[in-house]
Amino acid sequence: MVEEKGVHTGGCQCGAVRFRVDGRLGKASICHCRMCQKAFGGFYAPLVSVAEDRDLTWTRGAPSYFQSSNTVKRGFCSACGTPLTYEAPDGVALAIGAFDDASKIAPVIQYGVEGKLPYTDHMAAIPARTTEDDFQALEFLASIVSYQHPDHDTDTWPPVTPGNSAPSE
Ligand SMILES: [Zn+2]
Ligand SMILES: [Zn+2]
Repeated sequence: MVEEKGVHTGGCQCGAVRFRVDGRLGKASICHCRMCQKAFGGFYAPLVSVAEDRDLTWTRGAPSYFQSSNTVKRGFCSACGTPLTYEAPDGVALAIGAFDDASKIAPVIQYGVEGKLPYTDHMAAIPARTTEDDFQALEFLASIVSYQHPDHDTDTWPPVTPGNSAPSE
């Protein structure tokens, strides 16, 4: 599955770095190795490879890099910290959660399982609640203003607001 053609867009949480993949995505995976846990600050790294390097374009900004070994560097947004890439001599992979629509990029293989955290396989079974369940007052929930970039490309970011002076047309 997941050999989807077409245009795939995504970026970091703050919107300073945006990317586009024109063409096919490769194999989607999760990696449990200790380096991926650290790089993502997570239980594992969700990554999808880019079939051809030339298919990947940075459409706004560019990642900063940490060279995590002699062969691998990891790209991230230096403004907000979102992990974005895993780059090895044999190719580039992008963080699945950074895509504007991650819902169809389903992992098909797990790597580094010797590093798997012991509770990882049980998470679907732990108690689950919606965000609304977590808040006593829905008014408080309604008062929250998100500064996260939306899940689509934008002409300008951050958006121009009254008082944030920009030349009028
Ligand atoms: Zn960012
Ligand atoms: Zn790994």
